[in-house]
This record gives sequence, structure tokens and C-alpha cells, in this order.
Amino acid sequence: MKRIIAIIIILVAGLLIFVTINEEWSLTSLTEAEPSTPPESKFISEEGIALYTTLNSAWHNPHHEESLSSLINHINNIEDEELKEYCAVTAAIGCRLQERKPEYRRIESFLDRAYPNGSHQNVLTRSYLGETCTQCQGSATAEGECDTCGGSGECRVSRCESGRIPIDGGAIVGEDSYRCINCGGTGECQDCGGTGTMIKRCPRCRGTGTEAVTDESVIKRYREFITDTINYGAEQGKIFTRDVTYRNGELNVR
Ligand SMILES: [Zn+2]
Ligand SMILES: [Zn+2]
Ligand SMILES: [Zn+2]
Repeated sequence: MKRIIAIIIILVAGLLIFVTINEEWSLTSLTEAEPSTPPESKFISEEGIALYTTLNSAWHNPHHEESLSSLINHINNIEDEELKEYCAVTAAIGCRLQERKPEYRRIESFLDRAYPNGSHQNVLTRSYLGETCTQCQGSATAEGECDTCGGSGECRVSRCESGRIPIDGGAIVGEDSYRCINCGGTGECQDCGGTGTMIKRCPRCRGTGTEAVTDESVIKRYREFITDTINYGAEQGKIFTRDVTYRNGELNVR
């Protein structure tokens, strides 16, 4: 019996070693693109490697569910508060993309609790995640015809003639007109200052500045946040020990 147990232990240990070596092997190949850099030396820790690998794989395959699950699992283990927030916001965007509503709500309430004044308040919104309106370039406004004067730019009092109202039989009081109260004698529309135009809600985006939130627009933000998260981790020495930058899904040693 003891012998069987010993054999089982040896087999399990052998399997563990095999898995570990394989893992190391795949990490080595990850860094092989930069032969001048000794493999792994740019990572600060095992956690750093794991977090980078997760984020990088999410960048390359935003719909990949396991990468996102792995990122969500990482959040609790991150010590640096800002890196944690970055990762949580990134994960929230990923959940939004993959329509993982319960997890999205869980992360959102964590963010609200942990970072009540955090930037996520602006990030997890339709206007941030959506495509910017092509008509108003996000300003939400558009120039349109003045509602008051219908575009003429003239005073809306119909009897007003260039700022003066004619008096019938004016000769009796010695004046044939008086100053229009509505336009103060200018003859111009008071709502548009005589221009005939006014700033209105953009008709294309209905005054939101944002067009539809699409898969593409959310993926764009997801990748932006993954990039920012990795670069933050690099700048602060939380993921890497060396000066590296992450752009367009690639890690570059400076
Ligand atoms: Zn007007
Ligand atoms: Zn007038
Ligand atoms: Zn618009």
C-alpha cells in the first residue's frame, strides 16, 4: 500500500514539474521577440507575468471569455490601489463587451465603494463607450435656424420696422413712430442677436454627442484601457522591472 502511495506521489510531483516547465517555456517564448533582453528579467514578479499575459491576451482577443475571467480573478490580489482600479475598470468594460451583466454589476459596485470619486464614473458611460457623433464631433450641438424669427434675424413684433413701431395718425402727437420695446430699437431678433441661427441639439445624436455603442466602439475602449493599465504598471514598476511600453498590443523595451 505504502509503495502505491509513493508511486502516486512521484507521479503527481512529476506532473507538477512538467506543467511548471511548460509554463516557463511559454513565458520564455513570449519574450523571445526581443533577443537582447534576458527572458523574464523585465517582469517584476510571477504576478506581474500573469497579469501582463492576461491583459495582453485580452487585447488580442477581446471576446475571449477566459482572459476576462482571469483578469477579474486578478483584481483582488493586486496591492497597488491605482493598478487595481485600472484593472477593475478594464474588466468592467470587458464585461460590458461580453454582456456579463452580474459580473459587471459586481465590479461596478466594488468600484463605487472603493473609489467613490474614481474616474470610472466617466468611463462606464454611454458617451465614453460609444462612437463619437460624426456630425457634431461630440459637442452634442448643431447650428440651426432660429425658432423665434424663423431664420430672418428680425424682431418678432410684426409691426416693428427696423426697431420702430409706426403710430397711426402720428402727426397729432408730433411723432410718427416709437421705439420697439421688444428689440430695444435694434430691429433684430433678441433670441439670435439678428443672426437668424441658434445653437441647437445635434439632430443626429439627439444632443448626446455619441452615436450607438457598438462592439467596435467598446473594443476600442477596452483596448485603450488594457494599454493604459499595462503602461501604468510599467511606469510604476508594478508589472515590469524595466522601462517598457505597450502599444497596439505589443510590448517594446525602451
Ligand atoms: Zn432669431
Ligand atoms: Zn422690434
Ligand atoms: Zn451629434
